[in-house]
Amino acid sequence: MGHSVKTDSPDVGSFDHGETLRDEQWAREVERETVRMVGEREKHTLAANVIGWLGCCIAANFLPQPGIMAIPLLLRLVAITATRIACSELRQKLAKGLGYERQLDMVQLSLSLSGITWALLLWPLFPLLGENAFANTVLGVVAVGASLVGGFLGPLPRFLLSYTVTFLLTLLVGMGLQEGPVPLAALLAAGCISMGMAAYSLGSAREARAMAAALVENRRLGIELTEALHHAEFLSQRDPLTGLLNRRAFFERVDRGDTDLRKPQHLLTFDLDHFKRVNDTFGHAVGDRVLIAVADCIRDVREEFPDKVCCAVRTGGEEFLIMLTGMENVLARQFAEVLRQRIANIAADMDVPGLATSASFGLVAIRRGESIDEASVRADRALYQAKERGRDRVTVAEVA
Ligand code: GH3
Ligand code: MG
Ligand code: MG
Repeated sequence: MGHSVKTDSPDVGSFDHGETLRDEQWAREVERETVRMVGEREKHTLAANVIGWLGCCIAANFLPQPGIMAIPLLLRLVAITATRIACSELRQKLAKGLGYERQLDMVQLSLSLSGITWALLLWPLFPLLGENAFANTVLGVVAVGASLVGGFLGPLPRFLLSYTVTFLLTLLVGMGLQEGPVPLAALLAAGCISMGMAAYSLGSAREARAMAAALVENRRLGIELTEALHHAEFLSQRDPLTGLLNRRAFFERVDRGDTDLRKPQHLLTFDLDHFKRVNDTFGHAVGDRVLIAVADCIRDVREEFPDKVCCAVRTGGEEFLIMLTGMENVLARQFAEVLRQRIANIAADMDVPGLATSASFGLVAIRRGESIDEASVRADRALYQAKERGRDRVTVAEVA
């Protein structure tokens, strides 16, 4: 089940603990994605910052006393550099998938400085605003620049707050320090900048959060889909009870010449003895446990013959087929005997009084040019003989 894309916090009260944890993780991922987005946007603001700064430098040059802008412009440059460094460290942490709390604090600090320096640009201009075209130009640049920064910070309220508060406070302090009445133009600028910031931020915040949520959701759906596909593929190829390959998957692999199978030299087929009786006497659940234990025996014995290729299939109810590659006749026979012995021991391990387990085996050495189907007919015949001769034994198909 996936989450619908939502921008507000989840109503955790209605979920169980697992759901709540899942949603907390989801919220963290959305938060991380939002931080990443803001961090990436900062990359593209450098050019605008530099252009704005140059615009202010040029305009300041034409003021009656150009020198009064030197310190605010210098501080502005410091703030641009500090933000740049803090954001690039933040991006690095995000790219490495590491925690980024300290870097967030650094960016917040640099943004507070940024807010101060934007407002400081206006301090020396208060007396000139409204009358001097170049002072008005700087005011325009500050209004646009500060609003844009506010806009891109919108998705992260703590950033926006630090930046806006320091900007407006510095602006107000500057006005307070002025002799005489505060110029109307400055007041208007402060009002416009605040409203611009609020409008930009709200729109941008909503959009960025929705995008981050959609991204996280898409990523999660992608993972779930891949898992579901793997699971479906597993189920289509495996016997759900024992986890061994099923007949269809096995013959598909044989047909397409799967290298895992290589060309087998022996086929070993076996059938559990009196299994109907096991079910009838002890119930299907015990029968199923025996089948699972048989598959485990095959896996165990397989491990005892390293370097040999061995592929096991549950061909039907209590019938199995094993292909052996790279074994001499004696070793293949030994493999069958070890497996027969293990299956005979299953009952003792299961703690079901009266239960007996055994299997009858047919073993064939595949002839040159013989198909798997042909060899398996001979193996079945050998298995039938094993049953006839008293069960719980391995019969090797005679060489015709
Ligand atoms: P024989 O020694 O001649 O092989 O006797 P048998 O009783 O094993 O042979 P039969 O073919 O009559 O019985 C096979 C039984 O296997 C019948 C069926 O109930 C049981 N069986 C088949 N598939 C499953 C399964 O998935 N789980 C369980 N518990 N039993 C199964
Ligand atoms: Mg049987
Ligand atoms: Mg059978």
